[in-house]
Amino acid sequence: MVRFLPEAHFASSGAGDLQLLPLRFERLDDHRYLVANLVGDILLMSAAELDRITSLAVVPGDGLYERAVSKQLIARKNQTSQLQLLGLRLRSRMAFLRNATPLHIFVVTLRCEHSCPYCQVSRRSTDRDRYDMSEETAMRGVDVALAAPMQSIKIEFQGGEPLLNFELVKKIVVEAEQRSAAIGKVVSFVITTNLALLTDGVLEFCREHAVLISTSLDGPADLHNKNRPRPGGNSHTLATTGIRRVQEILGDDRVGALMTTTEASLDRVEEIVDEYISLNLDGIFLRPLSPYGFAIKTKQFGKYDASRWLTFYERGLRYILDINRQGRYFPEFYASLLLKRMLTDRPIGYVDLRSPAGIGLGALVYNYDGKVFASDEGRMLAEMGDRAFELGDLASDDYRSLILSEKLVGLVSASLTQCAPQCSSCAYEPHCGADPVYHHATQLDPVGIKPLSEFCARHKGIFRLLFELLEGSPEDAAILRRWAAA
Ligand code: SF4
Repeated sequence: MVRFLPEAHFASSGAGDLQLLPLRFERLDDHRYLVANLVGDILLMSAAELDRITSLAVVPGDGLYERAVSKQLIARKNQTSQLQLLGLRLRSRMAFLRNATPLHIFVVTLRCEHSCPYCQVSRRSTDRDRYDMSEETAMRGVDVALAAPMQSIKIEFQGGEPLLNFELVKKIVVEAEQRSAAIGKVVSFVITTNLALLTDGVLEFCREHAVLISTSLDGPADLHNKNRPRPGGNSHTLATTGIRRVQEILGDDRVGALMTTTEASLDRVEEIVDEYISLNLDGIFLRPLSPYGFAIKTKQFGKYDASRWLTFYERGLRYILDINRQGRYFPEFYASLLLKRMLTDRPIGYVDLRSPAGIGLGALVYNYDGKVFASDEGRMLAEMGDRAFELGDLASDDYRSLILSEKLVGLVSASLTQCAPQCSSCAYEPHCGADPVYHHATQLDPVGIKPLSEFCARHKGIFRLLFELLEGSPEDAAILRRWAAA
């Protein structure tokens, strides 16, 4: 009995039998190219090899044919399996679209007792009545959040400093728990706080209601206190004491910290990483400054460009890899996110880097005054007088009217990287994302002119660095693959 067709049946009869599948490439230097398929699998090729692929001058057995077929760059004309596989993988990667609006941010007050010059939210120091969210507005926010189609949602409290309006935080948590249980939904909570006002009462409430804590830590005491002034100049002491108390009472995994890179941080990345290690934090997110709020007014944004930030980032990443090589698992979180994109087809819920953009579809922001924004950065722009990302008002809108508003649909559809100039032909597009708020803020154009975009320069730099590290030392590659798998 013949169980298989003869080998000749599967052999290509030459270029006329082959088709080119969608591919994009990036020139590394005069001789080397990164060539990516539709879903971003990348092959390193010489110029001559790329020429042969695009002119289909490959035959089975020549090595290049096999590499190109395995990476779905070419297929036989009658072969549908390659296309089906690409389609399936693309669908998996875009599965985040099935999960509309998992994140709901409540700005419970704009007041803050810090006065950080890089503050992106334009905090206020006075006038409780004017800058605190009312209970009525908060309950309308809970209505809208629970109307999102997701089975499981996250409510995040931001400010200003949300602990200045902790009574309202408690009311929202209790209300959302009761109402979500009645309709079979699951809600989790995060408070983003500088920890200066942390009390036993706050910790007890967080323990009872499984509330996570997210805080800011910019590095060693002198750097942190310079970046984050407050009366008494003791922001660092309060933040580090607070982190230890949260770890002790809620558990090590219940607190995370974020750093912001200022000009003063650029030469100190090792000290910043060491500070995180000494506090037993489970990783670090090396973040650049964003172009919003006081960061613009005080000219903090613009004190360094993408190239200086990339030098800082690469030095930090290499230092972190050293630490991992010595046996301590300690990821850089942004690299981990991008590596998940580069090495797996798992959908990433990260709302700031995806296409369609995460505005509205990934998160809604309920401001203290009831205005609803498509992203946290969108409300930061509004504090600067630019209301381009304001979607509506809790007093009159519901989830449906906000998410289907012409403004949101227009902004999302205009910013797709899949068809944006420059992005549509970029090898990194499957791993990158649209950031319409950033590009609107810096170029007054939600699509952005990518050759002039610091966002684009930063991301190209990181993708290239990660690719080089993956192709370099096997030990580094193994560490990066472990981060991607986590
Ligand atoms: S923003 Fe830049 S790196 Fe990202 S997809 Fe567009 S061109 Fe590529």
